[in-house]
Amino acid sequence: MTERRPIVAGNWKLHLDHVEAVHHVTELGMRLRAMDVASIDVVVVPPFTDLRSVSSVIEAEKLELGLGAQHVSEFDQGAYTGEVAAAMLSRLGVTIVLVGHSERRTFFHMDDATVARTAAAALRGGLTPMICVGESEDERADGATDEVLARQLGAVLGELAGVDAERLCVAYEPVWAIGSGTAATPEDAGSACAHLRKLAEQHLGEAAASLRILYGGSVSADNAAELVTPPDVDGLLVGSASLTPAGFAGVLGAVTDCYRSSRRSPRR
Ligand code: PEP
Repeated sequence: MTERRPIVAGNWKLHLDHVEAVHHVTELGMRLRAMDVASIDVVVVPPFTDLRSVSSVIEAEKLELGLGAQHVSEFDQGAYTGEVAAAMLSRLGVTIVLVGHSERRTFFHMDDATVARTAAAALRGGLTPMICVGESEDERADGATDEVLARQLGAVLGELAGVDAERLCVAYEPVWAIGSGTAATPEDAGSACAHLRKLAEQHLGEAAASLRILYGGSVSADNAAELVTPPDVDGLLVGSASLTPAGFAGVLGAVTDCYRSSRRSPRR
C-alpha cells in the first residue's frame, strides 16, 4: 500500500506585500488552530519579498504550515541578475516551489526544457518542485489534452532520471480553469491526474504510486471536496480562494471533511 499525504497549497501570485502577509498568516494560523487539518499538508506560497516575514510568523507561532515559493532560478549561483536560487529559498525555510506555472509559461516564455532544468535546480537546492502542467482551451478543444500532458511531464521526468518520486509533486492545472471561475469537473480532474500517474510510471516505475498529483484551477470552498474525491487527486493548488484567510480556511475545511468522511482516505 502506498501512502500519499494530501497537500493543499495557496498560491498568492502577485498579491499581498510582506506587511499584509504577516496579518494574513497570523489570522490563518488562528483559524487552523480551531480546525483539524492534521491529515493534510497545508502550504502557503507568497511572493518572494514575503518569505522571510511569513517564515518568522510560522516559527514564532509554531504553525503547522509549509512555506512555498512561486518560482526559482534554474541556476545555482552566478551573474544572473534578478534570479533567486533554490538554496537561498531553502535557507529561508521554503520547502516547495512551483515550477512551470502556466502564468510563467505564458507571460515569461518558460518552455518545457527550462521547466525541466528549473525542477532539477530545485531538487539540487533541497526543494520539492511542484511541476505545473495543463492544457490550454484550444488544446482541449482539439482533444490534445493527453498529448500536452505527456509532452510537459515527459520533458521534466526525462531530465530527472533516478529521482525519488516522494521528492516531487505534480499539479494538473488546466489553463482554461485558472482564474476563470470554471473548474474542471471532478471526473475530468480525476482522469487527467490518473493519466499523469500512468505517464509518470514510464519514468519512475512503481514509485509513481507515491507521486503526489494535485488539481488546480478555480478551486473554492464549494467545489474543493468533490475535486479531491477521485483516487488520483492528492490535493489542490488554490489561487484566488487562498487570498483571504477565511477563503483558504474554507477550502481546507472542505478538504479535511472529505478525507474524514468515507469518500476519500489519504492512505491508500
Ligand atoms: C493558480 O494560479 O494556480 C490557480 C489555481 O488559480 P485560481 O485558483 O485562481 O484559478
